[in-house]
Amino acid sequence: MIKERQTKQKAVILSAVQNTKTHPTAEQVYDLIRGELPNVSLGTVYRNLNKMAEDGLIRRISVMNSPDKFDGDLTPHHHISCTSCGKFCDFFDAEYNESLDRLIEAKTCFRIVRHETVFYGECPDCKLIKLN
Ligand SMILES: [Zn+2]
Ligand SMILES: [Zn+2]
Repeated sequence: MIKERQTKQKAVILSAVQNTKTHPTAEQVYDLIRGELPNVSLGTVYRNLNKMAEDGLIRRISVMNSPDKFDGDLTPHHHISCTSCGKFCDFFDAEYNESLDRLIEAKTCFRIVRHETVFYGECPDCKLIKLN
């Protein structure tokens, strides 16, 4: 049954993204699920991830100099990215800036639903290497 297979594929891909904190790219998700779904193609993984992001089941994060990443954690949070080693982490300790959304609305007449921020810099490890 094609329908059943698609449902299983979707469930496996979704739980792979939800059960990792690494913010995987589509290719990394493909590597994660290949054990369970040996016959699935990278294209199928891409399509499923994009559809799930559109449906709001996961978040798709655009990152400078990197393929898009996927995040199963839907609670509001920011991300930090190391420009030297590519380390990519969650950052929860900053309040969501609702007034920024209202400001952009007032200035652009868009109806703003949310914003996402990626902070770029050097992680502690990379900072140390530069100092030594
Ligand atoms: Zn680094
Ligand atoms: Zn995250």
